[in-house]
Amino acid sequence: MTEPAGAVRPPTSIAAGASRRRLGWQPATVADVRWENPQCKSIFLSVAGWPGHRPGQHLDLRLTAEDGYQAQRSYSIASAPGDELLMITVDCLPDGEVSPYLVDQVRPGDQLELRGPIGGYFVWDESRSDPVTLIAGGSGIAPFRSFLRHHEVVGSTTPIRLLYSTQSSASMIFRDELQAQASRELIDIDITLTREQPADWTGYRRRIDAELLGMIVWPAEEHPVDYVCGPTGFVEKASDILVALGHEPGRVLTERFGGTREG
Ligand SMILES: Cc1cc2nc3c(=O)[nH]c(=O)nc-3n(C[C@H](O)[C@H](O)[C@H](O)COP(=O)(O)OP(=O)(O)OC[C@H]3O[C@@H](n4cnc5c(N)ncnc54)[C@H](O)[C@@H]3O)c2cc1C
Repeated sequence: MTEPAGAVRPPTSIAAGASRRRLGWQPATVADVRWENPQCKSIFLSVAGWPGHRPGQHLDLRLTAEDGYQAQRSYSIASAPGDELLMITVDCLPDGEVSPYLVDQVRPGDQLELRGPIGGYFVWDESRSDPVTLIAGGSGIAPFRSFLRHHEVVGSTTPIRLLYSTQSSASMIFRDELQAQASRELIDIDITLTREQPADWTGYRRRIDAELLGMIVWPAEEHPVDYVCGPTGFVEKASDILVALGHEPGRVLTERFGGTREG
């Protein structure tokens, strides 16, 4: 297979490690839960022998009903590699099967099953110095919390520009943490509220388009690595725009959450 020029390749050891562990389910204990907004909850998990992860990886959760029926879904890891507890952030889709259970029912002390970390592609390699663009729609902000926390912990000198698209200020996730990250020298964070904006809102008030991304993302000449995460339609739109702006397709990395709702 020919790789596009400038493509970002995952560190080989991570890809191999993830693949070795891919089939191993392990027990996880819910240590804590935290509402992020009225329909979104973070779940903190304690996992004995967790092998560690890279920013951008995800895990699979498996639920088993009393009659033996099982359902599994993927969730981005929102905690940084060095954090004591694993954290995922789940947006409740009211007509969904798994997310309403995770958001409404799961309590500290509950046992869940997970496997991971998974994914060797949508990961940030902190040893590279290329500028990084992060574009999040809705709960697609989850893996970028891991990026930003890790960036801070390792003292990275990589500049990051983050664009977060969400419907309203009530639907915002990690508001305080993002505000704190935005005060750091190398981190630029822009937020666009697509449906409702408070009267005093100073951020953007629109859905993503070429004009908005053109103002915010690193120009193609800087050879950025772009990460786009969120609902499928959002990710496709953002990545198409980035390529149209001249960004190398092999350096536009995407993670699709599967739903059709936009941020
Ligand atoms: C790599 C990866 C990482 C992810 N990370 C996160 C994360 O950090 N946070 C997060 O909240 N989500 C994340 N997701 C999405 C997550 O895996 C689930 O898809 C999400 O929680 C919805 O699951 P659910 O069981 O509640 O909904 P489902 O029951 O799977 O339904 C999803 C949607 O599909 C529709 N649907 C279901 N069945 C049908 C059907 N037969 N025909 C038509 N429409 C149907 C439903 O109406 C619903 O809106 C991630 C997904 C991937 C692949």
